[in-house]
Amino acid sequence: MSILQNWENLQNRLSILQRRPQVIAVSKTKPISLIREACESGILVFGENRIQEAMEKFIPLQKEGINFELHHIGPVQSGTLKKLFGLFRYTHGVGSLSTLEDLSKRSEKSTSKLGFFLQVNLTQEDSKHGFSESEIINLLPRISQYETEHLEFSGLMTMGPTNEDKDLTRTVFRRLFQIREEYCVGKKISMGMSGDFEIALEEGTDIIRVGSLLFGTR
Ligand SMILES: *Cc1c(COP(=O)(O)O)cnc(C)c1O
Repeated sequence: MSILQNWENLQNRLSILQRRPQVIAVSKTKPISLIREACESGILVFGENRIQEAMEKFIPLQKEGINFELHHIGPVQSGTLKKLFGLFRYTHGVGSLSTLEDLSKRSEKSTSKLGFFLQVNLTQEDSKHGFSESEIINLLPRISQYETEHLEFSGLMTMGPTNEDKDLTRTVFRRLFQIREEYCVGKKISMGMSGDFEIALEEGTDIIRVGSLLFGTR
């Protein structure tokens, strides 16, 4: 199926569910030809997890004058975070205090704006990146101290469990929603991928990040 058909199927699904989340089309590992096809299908919000790969694919599209919005969706590492400024409008994987401090410091030298999502690890899997529930609850009341003219706190991001257990997925998505309601109402939540976006929608997400559903398996 074409990207356009996949996109229309997703839009139909969303309208049946009566939800209008922002959809991030995750184009990681996919070639620029498919990203162009997506742009021609009316998709303009993309997600990439590797900064170098994103630069190789999206700087040429930028030069062609395509008006995309790019989100960084992988873990943010201190060594590479300066490259986030400029090409990316948002980053969804700020998962530690030291990264947040580095991002904040770096943003003072930037001339373009970056919004950030704090990644929360609610499944308690060691393999997962992100703040624990107690860490995030501690941090949120003082999050504004890390914001600068070019760095804005946008919301919270989480991922479902690696084993894709549906009940646990729902539990962690519901918890993220509650944390937002309690500690940062007005900010966005980013949760739900190709395999679990419907649960995320039922639990009130604002943003879904779907890759394979639109572009095919990786
Ligand atoms: C790859 C990835 C996605 C998209 O995954 P799909 O299962 O292909 O929809 C979403 N979020 C993050 C953080 C990812 O790394």
